[in-house]
Amino acid sequence: MTAKSAAAAARATVYGYPRQGPNRELKKAIEGYWKGRVTADALRETAAELRRDNWQQLADAGVHEVPTGDFSYYDHVLDTTVALGAIPERHRVAVETDALDGYFAMARGTQDVAPLEMTKWFDTNYHYLVPELGPDTVFTADSGKQVGELKEALALGLSARPVLVGPVTYLLLAKPAPGVSADFEPLTLLDRLLPVYARILADLRAAGAEWVQLDEPALVQDRTPAELNAAARAYRDLGALTDRPKLLVASYFDRLGDALPVLAKAPVEGLALDFTESAAGNLQALAAVGGLPGKRLVAGVVNGRNIWVNDLAKSLSTLATLLGLAGRVDVAASCSLLHVPLDASAERDIEPQILRWLAFARQKTAEVVTLAKGLAQGADTIAAELAANRADLASRAGSPITHDPAVRARAAAVTEADARRSQPYTERAAAQREHLGLPLLPTTTIGSFPQTGELRAARADLRAGRIGTAAYEERVKAEIQEVVSFQEKTGIDVLVHGEPERNDMVQYFAEQLTGYLATRHGWVQSYGTRYVRPPILAGDISRPEPMTVRWTTYAQSLTSRPVKGMLTGPVTMLAWSFVRDDQPLADTARQVALALRDEVTDLETAGTSVIQVDEPALRETLPLRAAEHSAYLAWATEAFRLTTGGVRPDTQIHTHMCYAEFGDIVQAIDDLDADVISLEAARSHMQVAHELAAHGYPREAGPGVYDIHSPRVPSAEEAADLLRTGLQAIPAERLWVNPDCGLKTRGWAETRASLENLVAAARTVRDEL
Ligand code: GLN
Ligand code: ZN
Repeated sequence: MTAKSAAAAARATVYGYPRQGPNRELKKAIEGYWKGRVTADALRETAAELRRDNWQQLADAGVHEVPTGDFSYYDHVLDTTVALGAIPERHRVAVETDALDGYFAMARGTQDVAPLEMTKWFDTNYHYLVPELGPDTVFTADSGKQVGELKEALALGLSARPVLVGPVTYLLLAKPAPGVSADFEPLTLLDRLLPVYARILADLRAAGAEWVQLDEPALVQDRTPAELNAAARAYRDLGALTDRPKLLVASYFDRLGDALPVLAKAPVEGLALDFTESAAGNLQALAAVGGLPGKRLVAGVVNGRNIWVNDLAKSLSTLATLLGLAGRVDVAASCSLLHVPLDASAERDIEPQILRWLAFARQKTAEVVTLAKGLAQGADTIAAELAANRADLASRAGSPITHDPAVRARAAAVTEADARRSQPYTERAAAQREHLGLPLLPTTTIGSFPQTGELRAARADLRAGRIGTAAYEERVKAEIQEVVSFQEKTGIDVLVHGEPERNDMVQYFAEQLTGYLATRHGWVQSYGTRYVRPPILAGDISRPEPMTVRWTTYAQSLTSRPVKGMLTGPVTMLAWSFVRDDQPLADTARQVALALRDEVTDLETAGTSVIQVDEPALRETLPLRAAEHSAYLAWATEAFRLTTGGVRPDTQIHTHMCYAEFGDIVQAIDDLDADVISLEAARSHMQVAHELAAHGYPREAGPGVYDIHSPRVPSAEEAADLLRTGLQAIPAERLWVNPDCGLKTRGWAETRASLENLVAAARTVRDEL
């Protein structure tokens, strides 16, 4: 096939679309169902309507082949678990009794039965439910959802392509079921799993699927030869089936690396590859294996996980290069559009000038369609779009928002010394001991206290103009008073103000920093019915005014005990926002770090002796490939040190991490050069304390003794036992006593009882020393 015919055949497609609907209708229907306000039928009807609207919108926009099966009531990996019949034993009865309720029970748990574990989908902020497998797992095909949704789309007269999680990725994302040895490798189930995929593929073909997409993003991570072999085997076997649709194996989020030759050789009809910057290397690697002669290549040239307009001319030239490398080249977003908000045109508060730089799912779809047209019919047929795009890109590149000379000059002048405390840890520790006069095993919390209904109502009233700023601030102050007096009464050593003024630990700061944008409708699914609205790092970052000082100093004015200042660290500010694509992440991190450094300085000047800089996202932003870890950790730890490096030796810097296991980044934690770290540890029985000790971690640490993800109140004895375990790893002079994380999601009653027990435990164990 010639490049010309490959071009003429070019079509537009996407792998998935935001599920929630323009007004988060899906969230409302599902939560209504949970509360008994919405019937199962009404929920199904809402879901079917949303699917229909999405497909119709995609088709109207010019997408030639719409995805099906990407819709989910909760999570598409859980849907795959259902399709493969891999229901955990403890959920079987519920699922058999009522499929929908059983499904939600697996997702959320019930009073008696624990849910599946939830974890992050690669390096995105989407969370999936982890399949639980063991040597006894029996797979059985349940094609109902996939077939049903395909038929719905076909009935609309659309050309549709079912999308499923592929067998290798499914197994690589799974973990040993409870009670199964931790050494069990789910991948050993591949031979048992493939016949079930074969059945589903046959069912989809019978229902009218010409193509089926199998997503294998796990193959963009470092893989062992055995794992690559498994992939080769899987696609050799699936390819050899006779009763099946054409297979498109999709990868995204990074380059395929060693898996590329494996998939290129496999007897499947198509591959989907990521050709954005984050997957650099795919193009050369594809050329190196001789391309995909006679096959379909789906080229993900529009970034599916950021919110910036595409550089259409650049994408078109990438596509032109790809033409010689496959029988047919289609155009797509690099991954499912699930990871971006729905529609930028809904943002009325963003200046029109800036709005032109943004592309959410709808706009990205239009870009994909434009590129497919340009590829198939020639660039001159999209001349108007190219010209408008050029103007948008130029407006962004030349804007004073993206180029603030003062911010740039300051970042360029940063020296190594700026990112270093003036004295080494041991000397600082002595100065801090002197300055703070804390007991052994000091007690503290992570920052937030319960966010009460009144507080949320007050915030809503303020937004709606029902109350003024003064009334709102009185409410916040009253809250701080209560939090401080409770901590004093309970005997906590280092107090916090409780963060009542913060809606969210990133958004609160983003709203006060110049260069950050907030959206009104930019919801993105985090998990289940939980959606977040990540702010956008749009320009150069600076801090016009102090952000937290008045609340911290107010709290300090109420007590003679030290009150900890509380900031979100630079890496977490990036991880939970949409980041710029026009400069390296490291540069953005440095700008944010310098803005936060100003806040740290102001806190110290205002008399704050303990300042905590939270970095819960340090681990999760680790690149997918090990080869990139050290470069990431170098700039990430530098950004933290730049934030905190300017304080006096006797000012104590804390950091906090959670939501991950930290065993593999202890060196990086050490490189932060914080004086104290608090970590989530209660559920893993202080495992992290032992990991720190094994590394020879020299600083103070507070592995959590109170699991705040559960309403359960830990007894004083239980907390004391955890502390004794902690003492086996960390000496008493360096051990802190604290919960796993902030308390904002907990109620007051449990918080009160738990913290009283925590203080009692610290006292008991102190007496044993
Ligand atoms: N200081 C924050 C809080 O207590 C930390 C939250 C977090 O680690 N996710 O809420
Ligand atoms: Zn936390």
